[in-house]
Amino acid sequence: MTEYPSDRELVRLAREGKDLTRSEIIRLLSLSESDAETLLYPAADAVRSEAVGDAVHLRGIIEFSNCCERDCLYCGLRRSNARLNRYRMAEAEILAVARQIRDAGIMTVVLQSGEDSFYSRDMICGLVSRIREESGLIVTLSIGEKTPQDYQAYREAGADRYLLKHEISSAMLYRLMRPDSTPGGRLRCLRELGRQGYEVGTGNIVGLPGQTLEILADDLLLMKALDADMLGIGPFLPHPETPLAISPPGQMAPTLKTLALARLMTRTTNIPATTALGTLAPDGRLKALRAGANVVMPDFTPPSYRQLYEIYPGRNLASDPADFLKQLHDQIVKLGRTVGTDTGSRKK
Ligand code: SF4
Repeated sequence: MTEYPSDRELVRLAREGKDLTRSEIIRLLSLSESDAETLLYPAADAVRSEAVGDAVHLRGIIEFSNCCERDCLYCGLRRSNARLNRYRMAEAEILAVARQIRDAGIMTVVLQSGEDSFYSRDMICGLVSRIREESGLIVTLSIGEKTPQDYQAYREAGADRYLLKHEISSAMLYRLMRPDSTPGGRLRCLRELGRQGYEVGTGNIVGLPGQTLEILADDLLLMKALDADMLGIGPFLPHPETPLAISPPGQMAPTLKTLALARLMTRTTNIPATTALGTLAPDGRLKALRAGANVVMPDFTPPSYRQLYEIYPGRNLASDPADFLKQLHDQIVKLGRTVGTDTGSRKK
């Protein structure tokens, strides 16, 4: 009879690179908080150090439009939220913030928006190429589901990376939460981005109503199967102007366990300590950096716009990027880590 390994043994095997099965993932997601603290997070941290090193890579975000044509139940930007004042940043404003990011010594800009067809293919291409010319920044786009021709044009204009979370691996829950998008369409976009040579980011939300450990395990298996280069894993935070307003928020421990397992299962990926984790608890980002994360994405969106980019409530709106960066540098050094000085591309 085969002996079923203890939790400790299973974590040790995962640390050494064992391919975890669905039931093993579920078992590790079910670890008590203290076992996760003593077994799982240190193992993920060790793999992070061996596989991607001790540098924490910074990416500067510009949330350039909060207009969205979709109606995801969990998101404050959903088109049905009539109470939100909508904005679109002008190109000159976006370019000015990109220069700020470059001047702060950060090498990557993330251009993020709702799904907003106001910005035509040509407008996005123009923006990408002007940022590349002016600042030399690596451009990451996070602007939703587009056609293969759009993705190709952005790539030719100079975009190197694209973030598109798969969000939810369960087709049933996906259709419920994202009524005007399909899981198949989303996956087609992710595969197309990979084919076109982008560094691709995907990820999920932890703690959505209706989410089970089985679904979380499938999220992790999907991230691995897609061989994505970046994995964004953040907690669900209910927004008062959505149908999920009174649902309980996602919790720190399941989010950290998912993140730690993502590190153990995918080794060399870039995994951010997400803003949502920092919103859930003041030390959320630090906890994530100790459980497998190696990226932080400071928000450079001008404050007057930032307060309106309310996917979920409670984001720290007060902090000036310079103050935030100073604090972050100190925290990174305290952790015994360094701030990344190269582009932080995934090294497979
Ligand atoms: S999750 Fe994305 S696509 Fe859905 S409503 Fe929010 S911004 Fe739009």
